[in-house]
Amino acid sequence: MSTSNAQQFPAINNGGSGGGGSAASLLPSLFPERTPMSPAQLAAGVEAALEVQRRAVAFGKRPFAAVLVAPDNETVLLSHQSVDQVNHAESSLARLAYCHYDKAFLWRCTLVSTWEPCGMCTATIYWAHIGRVVFAGSNDQLYELTGPGNRENFTMDWHTRDVLQGCPQKDIEVIGPLEAEGRIVVEESDKYWITTRN
Ligand SMILES: [Zn+2]
Repeated sequence: MSTSNAQQFPAINNGGSGGGGSAASLLPSLFPERTPMSPAQLAAGVEAALEVQRRAVAFGKRPFAAVLVAPDNETVLLSHQSVDQVNHAESSLARLAYCHYDKAFLWRCTLVSTWEPCGMCTATIYWAHIGRVVFAGSNDQLYELTGPGNRENFTMDWHTRDVLQGCPQKDIEVIGPLEAEGRIVVEESDKYWITTRN
């Protein structure tokens, strides 16, 4: 029985056109064309998320934050910081985005995060139908900062692309890690993590 699933998914994965995966060929209205982001727009998106992260840390939260950028690749529609260990910035933002906007609109939006979304957040972004994810710092860099056995973050060994590989129906675009922006995010976030790691 599991064999039949394994055969179906790779088969339907090739049916898409216009970057939407197989679902796009069946439901094209939910997968409108996305405008590519320029390097300047990527940098501005990360800076907007970093601003939210700085405020979060000032209020005693962990250094994670994300913003939802509109289809024009510039307007910040919503933002979210990390609330706690089960209410992460990206999944909380994705749920909020899905409350506010419809699927076709969200497919043209971008979730920009200071850090690579974890497995939980990537899956929520998938379900929220947000068409693009941008992140500055990588999960591996985060693990270096938190170290093992950090009660504030038992960092997972999942990557955004690993999770999305198991979601072939939608071709969500992933951009990151970003070298220059990532360096700033790592440097700023380390001021928090250095006080918590073993
Ligand atoms: Zn997460």
